[in-house]
Amino acid sequence: MKKDKINLLIVDDEEQFLESISKSLELRDFHVIAVNRGDKAVEVAKRQPIDVAIVDLKMPGISGEETLRQLKKEHRFLEVVILTGHGAVQSAVDCTKIGAFSYLQKPCELATLIEALLAAYKQKVMNHRQIEEKKMEKLLQISTSSSPRDILRRLRELDEGED
Ligand SMILES: [Mg+2]
Repeated sequence: MKKDKINLLIVDDEEQFLESISKSLELRDFHVIAVNRGDKAVEVAKRQPIDVAIVDLKMPGISGEETLRQLKKEHRFLEVVILTGHGAVQSAVDCTKIGAFSYLQKPCELATLIEALLAAYKQKVMNHRQIEEKKMEKLLQISTSSSPRDILRRLRELDEGED
């Protein structure tokens, strides 16, 4: 994890593509973790904080759609950009319903991809901030309430569902 960089997870089964896109994005100051299977992506995201993920759709093992589903279920602030060589309108609609931030087709200009990644990161930061602000409001309400046990219980409730 790098604090001063966007932590980017890339999952794609095409090794050469994975390597070249990773290098390009590392050069543009992203901290990249590249994996070639959806289940590996889900595992990586459990172990370290990821801001944004680029997910391929057609891969051996669990599909990109299932990878997206699991990533969004376990990390509500993580944003996903789908990058596929087999784009279709129905698939784009389905992925958006599951929570994909955007849906791009290969070949994709690096500038377009970076634009999508930065927009996804911005969304992640804004969502996180909104939750923090709501928590702060609730904290201010709690501070005037009754017993220490009650305060503790309500603080614990606030901490549930983080990340
Ligand atoms: Mg593929």
